[in-house]
Amino acid sequence: MAEHWDAVVIGGGPAGLMAAGEIAAAGHRCLVLEAKPSMARKLLMAGKSGLNLTKDEPLEGFLDHYGAARVNLEQMIRAFDPAEVQRWAQALGRELFTGSTGRVFPREMKASPLLRAWLRELQASGVEQRLRWRWQGWRESNLLFETPDGRQEIAAKAVILALGGASWARLGSDGLWAEHLQGRGIAHAPFKSANAGLLVEWSAHMAPHFGEPIKGVEWQAGDLRSRGEAVISARGLEGGGIYSICATVREGEALSVDLLPDLPLEEVQKRLSRPRGKASLANHLRKSLKLGAGRMALLQEFGRPLPKDPAALAAVIKALPVKHAGLRPLDEAISTAGGVPWAELDGALMLKRLPGIFCAGEMIDWEAPTGGYLLTACLATGRWAGQGATRFLAEPVS
Ligand SMILES: Cc1cc2nc3c(=O)[nH]c(=O)nc-3n(C[C@H](O)[C@H](O)[C@H](O)COP(=O)(O)OP(=O)(O)OC[C@H]3O[C@@H](n4cnc5c(N)ncnc54)[C@H](O)[C@@H]3O)c2cc1C
Repeated sequence: MAEHWDAVVIGGGPAGLMAAGEIAAAGHRCLVLEAKPSMARKLLMAGKSGLNLTKDEPLEGFLDHYGAARVNLEQMIRAFDPAEVQRWAQALGRELFTGSTGRVFPREMKASPLLRAWLRELQASGVEQRLRWRWQGWRESNLLFETPDGRQEIAAKAVILALGGASWARLGSDGLWAEHLQGRGIAHAPFKSANAGLLVEWSAHMAPHFGEPIKGVEWQAGDLRSRGEAVISARGLEGGGIYSICATVREGEALSVDLLPDLPLEEVQKRLSRPRGKASLANHLRKSLKLGAGRMALLQEFGRPLPKDPAALAAVIKALPVKHAGLRPLDEAISTAGGVPWAELDGALMLKRLPGIFCAGEMIDWEAPTGGYLLTACLATGRWAGQGATRFLAEPVS
């Protein structure tokens, strides 16, 4: 016998919780079902690096960060924009601060206080929450779950799928849901690493530089450019600067780094042409160009043998080829591209082939850099799908 609900949300991450709040606010019975033993584990992980909720910048520029998916996401983000994200977090009792780059964080730089307040609020508004309920697809028209009490079935008038992408599977987002949707004829855009570090097989002399930050450079791959920071790690290069150009690296574009983006080539050449006396080339570079330890290490690693001619050396410094072994594996990416194609969804985020079933969050095929763009779009699509489900419940037959 199946249990009957107005609405169920499958996946207790930020997109799913947002959708549940909207449905409950409209007065419907709503149940959130989550596979893991606690809700929103990836959100909690995001909290370990401070929980960058959104970015305080002009909306036009903010929307551009969604690339090709801007056209699909714009309306939803305009309806729940960075200012709304901040108001929402403040309404949950969180004090926020905006860093010098516009990134917005909770003052305590973690996710658990926000999540606790959010779950309490959902509970107070009547949302029921069940843990360790893993969705396994359908049996006829009922939703099928693996639960601590064995297999269970649920019949719901409206369903929100908010199952996440396909990275950090141990936190719950394993992408296995794709099979269930494909079984019902829904197309799938293959998952790809987004915001992933780079694998580099360093030579032995790089070991002392592990942990060294690389600042003040410009990474370039295809038509993408990024001034973001990176860190040299034992496995390669990590950090926002690399994540931002990861989409074109993934497509096979060559990666290079301009070690002195604020100095024109001619100026670098002029400085390198100054007499260096008895100074070694390394010291000459350090003094004339003020390259820090991290940038010097990259130059030695990727530029050797360094040309003696100042013009040739300046050209290497301005476009140093970064030799790498590709992106870190999918499961280690901060987020993933791919998932449910936009063509499968209508304007309310409902699956066109499965009326009453809506999708939200990272499981839809879009990508964006780190910087608060990911969570903002997850919250905005969760809210949008929740509102769509609410309208569907009021008027199920179109
Ligand atoms: C280390 C790290 C740091 C990050 N930092 C930031 C940041 O600072 N700012 C930012 O904007 N973004 C950040 N992100 C990205 C952000 O956390 C995600 O984009 C966001 O959590 C996705 O939300 P979601 O609700 O779509 O999916 P998820 O948060 O992945 O939630 C999906 C939920 O669905 C559940 N689920 C999956 N399959 C099933 C099933 N079959 N049955 C039942 N439940 C299921 C999962 O267990 C999971 O709880 C970070 C990510 C990582 C890994």
